[in-house]
Amino acid sequence: MPHYDLVIIGTGSGNSVLDPRFAGWKTAIVEKGTFGGTCLNVGCIPTKMFVYPADLAAAVPAGAKLGVDMKLNEVRWREIRDRVFGRIDPIAAGGKQYRVEHEDNANVTVYEGEGRFTGMKELRVSFPDGRTETLTADRFVLAAGGRPVVPDIPGLADSGYHTSDTVMRIDELPERLVILGSGFIAAEFAHVFSSFGVAVTVIARSGALLRAEDEAVSERFTELAAEKYDVRLNRRTTKVRRTSTGVSLDLEGPEGTETLDADLLLVATGRRPNSDLLDVAATGVSTRDSGHVEVDEYQRTAVEGIYALGDISSMHELKHVANHEQRVVQHNLLHPDDPVASDHRFVPHAVFTAPQIAGVGLTEGEAKAQGVNYVTYTQDYAGIAYGWAMEDTTGFAKLLADPATGQLLGAHIIGPQAGTLIQPVIQAMSFGLDARQMARGQYWIHPAMPELIENALLNLPLDD
Ligand SMILES: Cc1cc2nc3c(=O)[nH]c(=O)nc-3n(C[C@H](O)[C@H](O)[C@H](O)COP(=O)(O)OP(=O)(O)OC[C@H]3O[C@@H](n4cnc5c(N)ncnc54)[C@H](O)[C@@H]3O)c2cc1C
Repeated sequence: MPHYDLVIIGTGSGNSVLDPRFAGWKTAIVEKGTFGGTCLNVGCIPTKMFVYPADLAAAVPAGAKLGVDMKLNEVRWREIRDRVFGRIDPIAAGGKQYRVEHEDNANVTVYEGEGRFTGMKELRVSFPDGRTETLTADRFVLAAGGRPVVPDIPGLADSGYHTSDTVMRIDELPERLVILGSGFIAAEFAHVFSSFGVAVTVIARSGALLRAEDEAVSERFTELAAEKYDVRLNRRTTKVRRTSTGVSLDLEGPEGTETLDADLLLVATGRRPNSDLLDVAATGVSTRDSGHVEVDEYQRTAVEGIYALGDISSMHELKHVANHEQRVVQHNLLHPDDPVASDHRFVPHAVFTAPQIAGVGLTEGEAKAQGVNYVTYTQDYAGIAYGWAMEDTTGFAKLLADPATGQLLGAHIIGPQAGTLIQPVIQAMSFGLDARQMARGQYWIHPAMPELIENALLNLPLDD
């Protein structure tokens, strides 16, 4: 039974743990899927590579109100798809080749199989050809991420549904696509496919889309989405059937039952951590009710020498968080007597849908629920010069701040380039820059889009 100083399970952010400082360690990496993990292969990167051409296609109808009439001649789906994966697949293959073949990794053994704990610090790896091998190690890094959740709806399992893992590789655009789910993955794919001319229907169990966002953002997004594609709220899917042309879904909603036919079904109803398939309990590692591995601020599990990072343990489930935690784990493996803590104070996120959405810090609902003393101001894009240029009538930035100190508590943006515009607010929150200093202690380029943030800051009703 081979014994290692360190075994890493998962090659998403986990793959970045090993650097030259580990050259003297006997290490192993275990990966059951494609090298590089979710973000590179089926997550952040390919989705955004589809979103960009979708944004271009969506600009065609948007031009009319600015006096520019354009026509969308064709969306060459296969070309778009092949450009995306023609870029990504070689990166994944190159990452694997580097670990397997390069002399830098002489101390690294790559196991291309599925790991499952069978005892304390004992991992059985099952290979695709049926072989198994059991490894032991002094230290483990659990970086096995998560997977899509598929709800238990009669007929769904046999319906030929897609998830985000598969839908980006389809050969042809469907005419009609149904998306089950109302979170960020549903919102991004609804934008991509509807912009490419697919008739999209989004089915949400609740009364709004993107409910994790600030309520004002979720409400505005739900209204705007309903103008672009069919949004069915407060619906329960009771049955799914495979048909000769695709799928058929039975729904129950406020106005009774209805049946919906489509060519393709995308299930985007959330994700869960892979801790169960890895059977972390067998090595004494505890999990929360959600399945997330329990870690302390140093990313340590309850078992000495076993660390976890990224989606398997983080409630945030974002790549920049997984990468941050990876750097923390890396340091703490090398310096266990001088550990550093993860910084989860101000974790931002963006949703690359249309319009774009970004948020950081408290939503107004959270501020109220936590009894936080706050003031808020909402600045419309329509109130800044660049917003006039774009003729934007629906976007806004909403800031929350402590009225006494001016410290920013939260920011929520819906509108063009939201994911970029929010960055100075993240910086201010992270470094303790208050709203007054931030607004007047620097120049803001006129008439650029960040004036949205400048105006929101200046209008916050702070105490004198
Ligand atoms: C459609 C989509 C879009 C996204 N967009 C964004 C975005 O725009 N921005 C953002 O910040 N985040 C985004 N995310 C989330 C982001 O992809 C994840 O937060 C991030 O990839 C998590 O990294 P990780 O290293 O924790 O896990 P992963 O990257 O999932 O890596 C885990 C690896 O472990 C392997 N593995 C699992 N179980 C085992 C086992 N038992 N044995 C061996 N190997 C195993 C898996 O095959 C996988 O390669 C998106 C996710 C999805 C699905």
